[in-house]
Amino acid sequence: MSNYNYNYNIDAKKNMTYDAIVIGSGMSGSWAAKELCEAGLKTLVLERGRIVKHIEDYPDMQKESWDWELRGGVTPEERKKHYKAVRSNWLGEASKKFWANDEENPYTEIKPFMWLRAHQMGGRSQLWGKQTYRWSDLDFEANAKEGIGVDWPIRYKDIAPWYSHVEKYIGISGQALGLPQLPDSEFLPPMQLNCVEKDVKARIENAFPGRTMTIGRVAHLTQPHNGRGQCMSRNKCSMGCPYSAFFSANSVTLPAANYTGNLTIRPWSIAHSVIYDDKKGKATGVKIIDAESGEMMEYYAKIIFVNASTLSTTRILMNSTSDRFPNGLGNDSGELGHNLMDHTYRVGAMGVFEGHEDSYYKGRRPNGIYIPRYWNINEETKSDKFVRGFGYQGGAYRKGWGRGANVEGFGADFKDNLMKDPGPWEFFITGFAECLPYHENKVSLDKDSLDKWGQPTLAIDCEWKENELALNKQIQEDALEMLDKAGLKDIVGFDNKHEPGFGIHEMGTARMGHDPKTSVLNANNQVHGAPNVYVTDGACMTSNSCVNPSLTYMALSARAANHAISELNKQNL
Ligand SMILES: Cc1cc2nc3c(=O)[nH]c(=O)nc-3n(C[C@H](O)[C@H](O)[C@H](O)COP(=O)(O)OP(=O)(O)OC[C@H]3O[C@@H](n4cnc5c(N)ncnc54)[C@H](O)[C@@H]3O)c2cc1C
Ligand code: SF4
Repeated sequence: MSNYNYNYNIDAKKNMTYDAIVIGSGMSGSWAAKELCEAGLKTLVLERGRIVKHIEDYPDMQKESWDWELRGGVTPEERKKHYKAVRSNWLGEASKKFWANDEENPYTEIKPFMWLRAHQMGGRSQLWGKQTYRWSDLDFEANAKEGIGVDWPIRYKDIAPWYSHVEKYIGISGQALGLPQLPDSEFLPPMQLNCVEKDVKARIENAFPGRTMTIGRVAHLTQPHNGRGQCMSRNKCSMGCPYSAFFSANSVTLPAANYTGNLTIRPWSIAHSVIYDDKKGKATGVKIIDAESGEMMEYYAKIIFVNASTLSTTRILMNSTSDRFPNGLGNDSGELGHNLMDHTYRVGAMGVFEGHEDSYYKGRRPNGIYIPRYWNINEETKSDKFVRGFGYQGGAYRKGWGRGANVEGFGADFKDNLMKDPGPWEFFITGFAECLPYHENKVSLDKDSLDKWGQPTLAIDCEWKENELALNKQIQEDALEMLDKAGLKDIVGFDNKHEPGFGIHEMGTARMGHDPKTSVLNANNQVHGAPNVYVTDGACMTSNSCVNPSLTYMALSARAANHAISELNKQNL
């Protein structure tokens, strides 16, 4: 049996009882499913969207830019269907099939918030940027040291072996730097900086001791790994990768779970709520709505992982009411839905690099540069304007013939001139800043606004506050200064003033903590008061660091799944 011939529980009556249920087949859920299946547990994955089989369901993966009918654009009908996502520049002709339908899945923006969702097997692992960084104790200790939010119930040493476990399996390319604020991963060889990036790196590091520029750490394979092929630098990842060269649930973790023979996937299954038995003091299953028939049904298991992605998970927990939990499963603290965080996005600077006009780069490297956080990492780097910090992503490229769109002219000579040389070198950096966990930044169930299936939707009430705005100001000031010292010309700063959500790193609405009075989950990601329910997606995060979070979700998922397996073996669950 191929790893892609899944056992689908289309016939709902076939089997209602499993050892484990995982809600959501995306980045975190697929990791939980893999670990549970490999330990021999019969596992049902409930996925609200359609089936996406690796390779077979990537009809566009070999298309070139000229093959697209709308040259990458989307029709007015599609803009309407994706009326939220269209505000971002992510929605395009190639990726539109992977984005959720906003008309069927509305949400209320009490304050502007971009909630970018992907409702299909694999979730957003088909679309992500693959930037992959470990967190450090600077992150895990920050809340406790600064008296902000609640303390993380774990430290770096608790998660470090699970980072290694995940990294060795999925393959992360990058350069080891030995920085305490950005621990090194188990790296495959790094991708290469281009000639301009090498020059800019040298100049920035020379002018600003303590600042480092490196190649991005990415979940792309720079050499064959675990039966998967090497990245060919095509930068067509959002169309699906025929070489399995980047990590997605569809190409890596779901096939691995399937290989065990223990996995069943039920597509078109919208998890409505977790069923909690007041007498037993634990959860017994999950209530779902069949997305096609509208029928409601129940599935049962000893352990349940809720991995529907931060806000969808929160919605499911809020819907899961019982005598014991009238305000939502695990919500004794009243913190469920609160402390929503994201990273600030698209603030930075760009400029033109003079030199290297005789040089180009090979391929379309699906990666850029990274400048790790350098503020507030010790006494010398302490800021009196803000707490925490930011990192930059960016890169150098040649402008190409597309630059003609902004130049006056027409006709054959005009086009010939544009084609004659590859255009000037440009370099840009854009910051990702940490957001603090504010109780007031929250989501709640909106019972007046229902989705296609008659279910209450979410109302999102979230905004940047003083600290995030101060970080953004510093991001731009530092970016302008660094580009100037790096000798760039025509430097301009940019601040797209994006609202929260654009960073697509939403986190925190069912946070981990020591105390059930102030948190929803314990140190092993178990719901306080319902220990056989685990939440290991971004909802569990107690703070949000400034680095991309998905590696941490995956490591926490693997760690929690192995905790559940061990507790089950001890008959504690
Ligand atoms: C364009 C883009 C770029 C990104 N770049 C990066 C990056 O470079 N680095 C990084 O770390 N992160 C990045 N991210 C974020 C990353 O994709 C997410 O952090 C990650 O996918 C979250 O994993 P998850 O399992 O929580 O959710 P998802 O991967 O979103 O999976 C959730 C799954 O649950 C399903 N689901 C939802 N509700 C229900 C329900 N009620 N019942 C059943 N199933 C349900 C969904 O259909 C989906 O399949 C990016 C995201 C996007 C979109
Ligand atoms: S850039 Fe690499 S990972 Fe992305 S689609 Fe091409 S070969 Fe696959």
